[in-house]
Amino acid sequence: MVTVGLAIDFMEILRLGIDGQLSVDPSDVETASLDFGLLTRGQPLAVLHPVSAQDIARVVKAAYGSNQGMTVSARGHGHSINGQAQTTNGVVIQMSGWKGGNKPPRPHVWAEERYVDVWGGELWIDVLKSTLEYGLAPKSWTDYLYLSVGGTLSNAGISGQAFNHGPQISNVYELDVVTGKGEVLTCSEDENTELFHAVLGGLGQFGIITRARISLEPAPNMVRWIRVLYSNFSAFTSDQEHLISLHAEPSNQKFDYVEGFVIVAEGLINNWRSSLFSPQNPVKISTLFPTSGVLYCLEIAKNYHESTAQTIDQEVEFLLKKLNFISTSVFTTDLLYVDFLDRVHMAEMKLRSKGLWEVPHPWLNLFIPSSKIAEFDKGVFKGILGNKTSGPILIYPMNKNKWDHRSSVVTPDEGLFYLVALLRSALDSGEETQSLEYLNNQNRQILRYCDEAGIKVKRYLPHYTTQQEWMDHFGNKWDRFYEMKMEFDPRHILASGQRIFTPTFPSLSNMPS
Ligand code: FAD
Repeated sequence: MVTVGLAIDFMEILRLGIDGQLSVDPSDVETASLDFGLLTRGQPLAVLHPVSAQDIARVVKAAYGSNQGMTVSARGHGHSINGQAQTTNGVVIQMSGWKGGNKPPRPHVWAEERYVDVWGGELWIDVLKSTLEYGLAPKSWTDYLYLSVGGTLSNAGISGQAFNHGPQISNVYELDVVTGKGEVLTCSEDENTELFHAVLGGLGQFGIITRARISLEPAPNMVRWIRVLYSNFSAFTSDQEHLISLHAEPSNQKFDYVEGFVIVAEGLINNWRSSLFSPQNPVKISTLFPTSGVLYCLEIAKNYHESTAQTIDQEVEFLLKKLNFISTSVFTTDLLYVDFLDRVHMAEMKLRSKGLWEVPHPWLNLFIPSSKIAEFDKGVFKGILGNKTSGPILIYPMNKNKWDHRSSVVTPDEGLFYLVALLRSALDSGEETQSLEYLNNQNRQILRYCDEAGIKVKRYLPHYTTQQEWMDHFGNKWDRFYEMKMEFDPRHILASGQRIFTPTFPSLSNMPS
């Protein structure tokens, strides 16, 4: 087989006895070259559709032993922004979806033990569907469920439940991992502990997650979903912080989900995260806009079961009474738990139908120490952004004590920190403020502002191009991160699309970059 760049003997890989499929089909290769961000393009030589950890181990072992140089990148659903799951001159292991007759293992629910074992490429929507058959569900989510278990556990996995249950990486008991040497290791709090903590939030650097054991709880079947508005930022954040401080209270005395978003002028009202501001909830939002031009929306939800439906009104009323939102701005809806969790998919379908999903996404996700969030508001929401947003801006606080400091993920040095997610889409509409260049510049301006104002942000779903920037990102976690890399992926084969380490094959040093 002739390939561009390095010659890899695919026939040799095929002789390894793979049960899945190794593909050089141009459409497979094209898919694996791209991601949701549509900002960068990889050049994989082939795509493996594995059906077991052994399939992956065989390919990684071959790559590890190869003198010619071959990288291996796991790709979940390819929902990264900056090419994190891509590779050039290597093999992409397509963990989600499958091809051909054989399939990876289906989720196995251990109902009594309250956990589920899932394949690393399983999408969270399918984890949910499998566990609901037993009346159970995972505790901690992402806002969008068409993401893979391995992909979110390599980052953190956060949503409005994180204040209460921690991120998804705080809700995992055990993993099977194929390391960069091709070993298949089980790891947990008690076994291969260092690998376990390194892999969680580890940006795919230490191994490919093939199985995760995820903690479950009894699933509610309904959700009361509420949005209230604020014109005053400090009232908004005080209420958010109050609500997340209730995490240790009994479940009937706290919300199950706390998020929020920023409404810069009226842009967001028509945007994909705002389906609650529907004709059933007719309120003239424009009448609420303060002179600053910025409104804040607190988004909260309370789970319930039909059997507890009679107390939900009372519980919600009690919690809302303590908040200081604009009293005429309460938007409420009751919906099935599964529909609540799957809400962003509904928005996806709408955007797809308008051709607005497959566009470049220069997203910027920041963790901001709570002591600096007011300054960030002044400088960014009321400053740099102007009155154009091009997409939702999420903002919600989390409790650091729900994050295990031994994981690889980095968060600010304060007990409370906020996620600010600027989830913007670039459009070729001719309007300058919607262009990719404009949004990229604005992202750089925001980061520069934080730097100059001494706001010590940490990037979530980070992306850097030099190792020095990565060292600064990891701070005092860098030495450990590096040590773990040398132990579990010494030739830097895995997840090279993150651009943290350069593969160390001798022949690669002669490669044109
Ligand atoms: P990919 O993009 O395929 O991979 C991401 C990284 O993980 C790559 O480095 C890859 O090599 C590595 N990787 C993938 N699979 C494995 C594996 N099995 N083992 C080891 N490494 C692996 N994130 C949140 O936390 N909360 C949200 O609410 C949220 N909402 C989102 C909504 C949308 C519409 C999108 C596009 C993204 C959202 N994200 C959210 C971000 C998302 O969690 C990350 O982009 C995540 O990486 C996507 O998962 P994926 O399966 O597509 O991973």
